Amino acid sequence: MHNAALRAMGKGDPRFREWRYQRFEISEEDLEEALETLLRKGFLGVNLTIPHKVRAVSLVDHIDATAEQLGAVNTLQRAPDGWIGFNTDGYGIEKAIRQELGVDLAGTTVIQLGAGGAARAVAVKCLQAGCRELWIGNRDPSRLNELLRLLEMEWGGRCPIHGFDLTQPPPTLPSTGLLINVTSLGLKPEDPSPIALERFSDALCVYDSTYGNPHNRLLADARDRGMRCADGLSMLVWQGVRALEIWSGAEVPADVMRRAAEEALHTRLSRG
Ligand code: NDP
Repeated sequence: MHNAALRAMGKGDPRFREWRYQRFEISEEDLEEALETLLRKGFLGVNLTIPHKVRAVSLVDHIDATAEQLGAVNTLQRAPDGWIGFNTDGYGIEKAIRQELGVDLAGTTVIQLGAGGAARAVAVKCLQAGCRELWIGNRDPSRLNELLRLLEMEWGGRCPIHGFDLTQPPPTLPSTGLLINVTSLGLKPEDPSPIALERFSDALCVYDSTYGNPHNRLLADARDRGMRCADGLSMLVWQGVRALEIWSGAEVPADVMRRAAEEALHTRLSRG
């Protein structure tokens, strides 16, 4: 999707005709050396995904405030003296939710499922945007408590934050608002839904951050109930749009990136 955007951007600005986005598979133990090599070879920027987002925080030379708060970076920009780290996942989900579901996080009750790496970015974005209250459910209580402790330090007293056991949701869980799945349940077609939707009102909106399996159990159940819902492809696209904006300082054609991502996914799905 980045190369499709660069082709479109190159029509208006010859600078981008030379730019290419390439994929490298780097093992955890090789990350430090890889980042040094990419800098030496003149790369303008880097995106990082699992498992590098947290480790890279200690390898960058500068870090922007949001990424520092999250303790995770997914976008690096070249500076004269090294890499600057950013995190565009929160931006991605906020834009995606507004575009796909017409929901503004400000003033919304959010029920978030998951407390892993991506969940941290999502929770901070909901709090930064001024959600009404935040409920976070996770299977592993220690991971949940660690995230709650981090959030309470910064946001405690400003916004109600509640944790719950995802295997036994409490009766006090709100029945409407915005449900965001940030567990990895839903990535595979055979995955069960992370939560039963019977307990919610049909006015609930559902955003599933997984992508590549738009007919998973959670989304199928939400559609059956007439709930507004969307999968995580839009989040992927918007975090990528923001990264390309950071590197280029130019306007990025989000629609071109979206189409390219859909086409790539379609090709992958039709190949089985
Ligand atoms: P992590 O491995 O850090 O976290 C995984 C989360 O899923 C944990 O909360 C974990 O709970 C939960 N989980 C895994 N298996 C189960 C299960 N069987 N039952 C209940 N909960 C389970 O992954 P990330 O946070 O990096 O990613 C999470 C999801 O977000 C992925 O699906 C990923 O595809 C998606 N994502 C999407 C992006 C996008 O742009 N659309 C960007 C980044 C992530 P526990 O602690 O109990 O193990």
